[in-house]
Amino acid sequence: MTETSSSGAAATDAGEPRLIQIQAGPMANFVYVLADPSTRRAWVVDPAWEPVGVVRIAEEQGYEVVGVLATHFHQDHIGGDIFGQHVPGVRELRAEFDLPMLIHEAEAERGAEIAGCPPHRVESFQDGDVLELGDLAVEVLHTPGHSPGSCCFRAGSHVLTADTLFVQGIGRIDLPHSDVDAMYRSLQRLKALPPELAIYPGHDYGPESSSTIGRELMWNAYLRPDSLEQWRAMLGYV
Ligand SMILES: [Zn+2]
Repeated sequence: MTETSSSGAAATDAGEPRLIQIQAGPMANFVYVLADPSTRRAWVVDPAWEPVGVVRIAEEQGYEVVGVLATHFHQDHIGGDIFGQHVPGVRELRAEFDLPMLIHEAEAERGAEIAGCPPHRVESFQDGDVLELGDLAVEVLHTPGHSPGSCCFRAGSHVLTADTLFVQGIGRIDLPHSDVDAMYRSLQRLKALPPELAIYPGHDYGPESSSTIGRELMWNAYLRPDSLEQWRAMLGYV
């Protein structure tokens, strides 16, 4: 587990979060501590692989972790059994801390089962919701495609893009619950965000650990199609 970078330069600006990016596990997942610098409250985002360690990192920096924010229900993000292997995640975290798990409504029920989180400790949200973390406003963008309930989260000048948008790539859309056309629409939505927004992906699969919407518009081939036809042609579906 390595703390690869953290943003904090703008953390004194009103509405700006403190974001700590941590790489964890053999699939190069990015786990995040998303914190409100004024109230010192924090969420751990997708705390798989070394969940308790992530909370310790937040605590060492003076934050009180008050919940788990899930970008989607895959085991490498929230923990669970996959390919005959158990990935530590929300279950192990909750054995030490009684934290709620926040997840999109489309994946709340299944996500609770996968992660081993009791249903009464699951809080679901939907597109357009503004989640409050202390004084920080975190906007939910429902971006299905990689999975039905995949979401991006925008806070200040940052957007966590999970397994929807990577640096010069995108999340897989060949999985059982993936939807190729939904991914196209989700990416169009991200393309329309302000170019200066900083993006923080769910995996460390690109040449850098973070980027901006503007840079991805230049360098990310998956953002080039401007129609569903172009998108399908690029993917070889025609
Ligand atoms: Zn995933």
